[in-house]
Amino acid sequence: MAIIIDGKKIAQDVRNEVKEEVLRLKAKTGIVPGLAVILVGEDPASKIYVRMKEAACEEAGFLSREYKFPADVDEGKILSIISDLNRDDEIHGILVQLPLPGHISSDSIIEAIDPRKDVDGFHPYNIGHLFTGNPFHMACTPLGILELIDRSGTGIEGKEAVIVGRSNIVGKPLALMLLARHATVTVCHTRTRDLPEVTGRAELLIAAAGRPEMITKDMVRDGVVVIDVGINRLDDGKLVGDVAFQEVAEKASHITPVPGGVGPMTIAMLLKNTLNAAVARSK
Ligand code: NAD
Repeated sequence: MAIIIDGKKIAQDVRNEVKEEVLRLKAKTGIVPGLAVILVGEDPASKIYVRMKEAACEEAGFLSREYKFPADVDEGKILSIISDLNRDDEIHGILVQLPLPGHISSDSIIEAIDPRKDVDGFHPYNIGHLFTGNPFHMACTPLGILELIDRSGTGIEGKEAVIVGRSNIVGKPLALMLLARHATVTVCHTRTRDLPEVTGRAELLIAAAGRPEMITKDMVRDGVVVIDVGINRLDDGKLVGDVAFQEVAEKASHITPVPGGVGPMTIAMLLKNTLNAAVARSK
């Protein structure tokens, strides 16, 4: 039976470390990390995420500001707020909660954020630096995955890593991060011809496809480390990952649960990115 990687505990450890670092930064420089969150529309999931982010900011001793707009707000209005926040010395991180309504271009909005304040790591400047191996802000979910792997002591260098999913927020940036850490990386997607053959080679398997329990025990090898990014709500209301947890745990050496695995890490890494932005500002 696999060791369960406790994302909830690891995320809390990171949050406690951030909190201590905030106290040190404040005592030394007077700077308090500040995060501005922009929320457009009434999407219930987005509202929950924003509330969680604000609560985490408060717990860590950050300044947190929320900017709420109706779903039919003009793109120009959001761009103008971002421009103000870019110049605001109290704010070190700017986060626009995605998805945005269809009439607003996410690309234009993200590109308007000062890359030094792009704590989500989605700005092409930050993605480019990740690509060239000199990253500043990196996307929170893949960064959280790295932290989970590191703190579980399973190692990355030299490993055969397989990622299922090639999205801009998880699969692709994670591939670059694992490559930078000297893994041999394969990225799978919907057109991958023989998925079980590829996943079966993985020593480190990251499932980020958004397909409930699609990774079954016949698709993995003994001793694999499994990181399950998927969050899927079944018809009966149950929350499951992309991995059939019970059966895969019989073969894996380590596995993350859903919920309580990758999920809590994303906000912890957002705090860390915002703290880093504030520290960079203090120098
Ligand atoms: P996405 O829909 O943008 O991308 C999914 C990717 O998986 C695509 O590249 C697609 O090609 C691939 N894919 C889908 N079905 C596949 C299949 N049957 N075989 C092989 N590849 C397949 O999704 P996303 O935004 O990257 O999110 C993926 C999952 O991770 C979702 O369940 C999402 O809820 C979850 N997620 C969790 C967190 C978190 O825990 N904090 C953050 C982001 C996403």
